[in-house]
Amino acid sequence: MNKRIVYIERQLLNHSGVRRILDKIKPSAVEWIEHYKEVLNQRGGNWRLQKQYQSLILAHRKDAFYYEASPLTHSIEFKHFYYNTLAINCLYDCEYCYLQGMFNTPHLVLFLNNNDFIKAADTLSQRLQKPFYMALSYDTDLPAVEHLYPYCDEWIRYAETNPLITIEIRTKSSITSFFANKNPVNNVVLSWSVNPEDIARRFEPLTPSPAVRIKAASQAHEMGWPVMLCIDPIVYTRDFNAVYSTFISNLRKYFDPIRLYGISIGTMRMNTDYLTNIRNQRPDSQLLWYPFERKNGHAFYPKEVRQELVETVTNALKKEGFNRIFVYD
Ligand code: SF4
Repeated sequence: MNKRIVYIERQLLNHSGVRRILDKIKPSAVEWIEHYKEVLNQRGGNWRLQKQYQSLILAHRKDAFYYEASPLTHSIEFKHFYYNTLAINCLYDCEYCYLQGMFNTPHLVLFLNNNDFIKAADTLSQRLQKPFYMALSYDTDLPAVEHLYPYCDEWIRYAETNPLITIEIRTKSSITSFFANKNPVNNVVLSWSVNPEDIARRFEPLTPSPAVRIKAASQAHEMGWPVMLCIDPIVYTRDFNAVYSTFISNLRKYFDPIRLYGISIGTMRMNTDYLTNIRNQRPDSQLLWYPFERKNGHAFYPKEVRQELVETVTNALKKEGFNRIFVYD
């Protein structure tokens, strides 16, 4: 991340979190702005180049503290499924990431009024009076920014007080500090995205290797936290059958299928508008220039490829005893 400039919304002038973050990263300049979109939505820049100089934007969210997810967008067995956006953009740089096409710039936005997000979830909970699932911030990697703002810590503490909510914290990081000094909480699902080493090396730059992610996940698993593994996206490569089967049999060494919360799987897919934007930035990406099928605003592998990938991975998982599988297709 570019430590030279931090953009801060003027209304955060007296926010204690701002001082803590500035003390940590010691930027050489601070620029005060009216609204985070002034920077995030700048047009005409080169996204790939800007990623090398990714700036930090500190902001205050005024509304939209959560969204209801369509039943088509998730596979978890919860009737009421929501997600929120505590931060925008990511410190990592996965080649398949939709964020590259969703926002004009890669600058990292952190909303510092996390308490308003938690209050909104609490109001929702009182209205629903039923169990519900809240995925925390898929538009970033939350644990990877925990050193800047303790989102995970604050949400875990909230979840401990409200048995109706189940929160999911998904990451590709190897960071353990946000859970290692706490007792496991039944309604907090810690979820690690993993892929075979070769896939990660090729398509997931800046992320810790899957081996260290698995180590962090297995630590949480051993401690008794509900742990989910996400093999998503499954990437179609010439030797994917052998690559994914070997990878999955290795997972069995670290996780007890009975105690694991589940394994979520899904194949490469993307909103078509985002795909068009990203292809403009990545004319040389074999992964993104695959001749995807398009339907209802989404691009994905042809049906027979999707079926083969899902079947291969599902069969390999079942062979190792992993039966709680959530399939996104
Ligand atoms: S870790 Fe997730 S959010 Fe971050 S770049 Fe990779 S796919 Fe995108």
